[in-house]
Amino acid sequence: MMDAPLQISRILEHGSTVHAAAEVVTWTGAQPRRMTYAEVGAAAARLAHALRDDLGVVGDQRVATFMWNNAEHLIAYFAVPSMGAVLHTLNIRLFPEQVAYIANHATDRVVLVDSTLIPLLVRVLPQMTTVEHVVVVGGGDSAPLVEAGGGRVAVHDWAELLADKPDRFDWPEVDERDAAALCYTSGTTGNPKGVAYSHRSIWLHSMQVCMPEGFGLGPADRELAIVPMFHAMSWGLPYAAFLSGASLIMPDRFLQAAPIAQMMATERPTLAAAVPTIWNDLLAYLDANPTDTSSVKEAIVGGAACPPALMHAFAERHDISVIHAWGMTEMSPLGSVSRPPAGATGEAAWRYRYTQGRVPAGVAARIVGPVGEEMPADGEAVGELEVRGPWITARYVGEDEPDPEKFRDGWLRTGDVGTLSPDGYLTLTDRAKDVIKSGGEWISSVELENELMAHPAVLEACVVGVPDERWDERPLATVVLREGSTVTVDELRDFLAQRVAKWQLPERWAFIEAVPKTSVGKFDKKRVRATYAEGTLN
Ligand code: ADP
Repeated sequence: MMDAPLQISRILEHGSTVHAAAEVVTWTGAQPRRMTYAEVGAAAARLAHALRDDLGVVGDQRVATFMWNNAEHLIAYFAVPSMGAVLHTLNIRLFPEQVAYIANHATDRVVLVDSTLIPLLVRVLPQMTTVEHVVVVGGGDSAPLVEAGGGRVAVHDWAELLADKPDRFDWPEVDERDAAALCYTSGTTGNPKGVAYSHRSIWLHSMQVCMPEGFGLGPADRELAIVPMFHAMSWGLPYAAFLSGASLIMPDRFLQAAPIAQMMATERPTLAAAVPTIWNDLLAYLDANPTDTSSVKEAIVGGAACPPALMHAFAERHDISVIHAWGMTEMSPLGSVSRPPAGATGEAAWRYRYTQGRVPAGVAARIVGPVGEEMPADGEAVGELEVRGPWITARYVGEDEPDPEKFRDGWLRTGDVGTLSPDGYLTLTDRAKDVIKSGGEWISSVELENELMAHPAVLEACVVGVPDERWDERPLATVVLREGSTVTVDELRDFLAQRVAKWQLPERWAFIEAVPKTSVGKFDKKRVRATYAEGTLN
């Protein structure tokens, strides 16, 4: 066989010629902007010329993005790795000191920024010591950036920079094992850690995303990519779109339920992907504001456990099939997708859909016990999940040796606890650090949350372990009620008592306005613990 390298430029060339008419739609709040994949291909060539000829980007230098999901971010996704440089997606929602830490750690030389994010970048630019160039997308006043750059940073305008550049670029041949993109974990404990994806890992991962057992993408699809392009590469959707010919709908900064619903009604996506909190908000909105979402066949939900009640509500009230998926930044990120096996129907099919899903051939998985001993994949033995495969990182950026806390004998220790069935379905009960250890027994915080969120008055429930003199730890349930709903702690406890063992019932409860969220929209259990640990005793 020919030894043709799996390079990102090949995905770009394929998408922009074979699927030339597919489009990327960027929401603007008014008239959406539209670009065909052929135009994205030409713009990627122009950006590569600008980066090389005007900004002097060579070799594997890092070009960072500080951007929403939009057409220009997609152009950067292709241009930067295709020219042999490394794309680094900065998480705009992290604290300024974390963003600066990440940019310095990655030695970012260029930052591409959306003009609407200039005020945020201005706060961190003085601390970004390796950055020499900032390119502003979308015009606007860049004077504050010039000032924040303190004479060290040249500020450019995207449109001006690209205006006179050729729309073809002679993409170099790269080693498929070279880095193509960098993404840092959101670092809920300690400093964020960097993961470098190779051209090869992105290729293989993208093919899996397109598979029927993955997200099942094809040219007739239109994907609404709500999951940010700075959160684990938008779960691989941008590259998979160019590989499959699926069109992309990008929400830019319009991430509230109302504009998302409007995008669904007017841009007619066939599938959409986001973390559970987004879907939860959208469900409340759709229930109150009937919207035509009939084009949406599947909603991919991942990043945190999807409550079964959410799946049923979308299926029964909006005819949308919620597909539960699990992954990690360290895994590119796709680990498993919950599609029931052939022949499963009714209740049996639902039971499969509640799980985190089935691992593909590219992800070998095993469950290990407390001292690293392998446990049976029998759907019953509970332990920590370890994985390995061609799109799973072998160590973090900058580490000479894999950190033994996170890697063992060539396996990634996911920090997730659960079971694995003989036919490859993964059921996670918790993150190891969130499991509630009560009197020598484990209580799954996720199970309590899922059951509470099945109560009609409950919009969100976040359960954490808090110190307890007698039992070591006990659950604290924080609950957000739906607008206009009332319920008492006793009623909620009675409701739970029908669904979980009595000894697991929380004694501590707090009704709160909103569950604090992490930078990627997950329940921030660290903050919940710190803020509400004194929960009322009932
Ligand atoms: P962060 O660690 O910053 O939250 P990631 O998105 O990489 O960023 O998080 C990966 C983790 O998210 C997994 O290890 C797991 O704990 C959790 N997770 C992702 N998807 C699911 C899911 N479907 N069910 C339960 N947990 C999930």
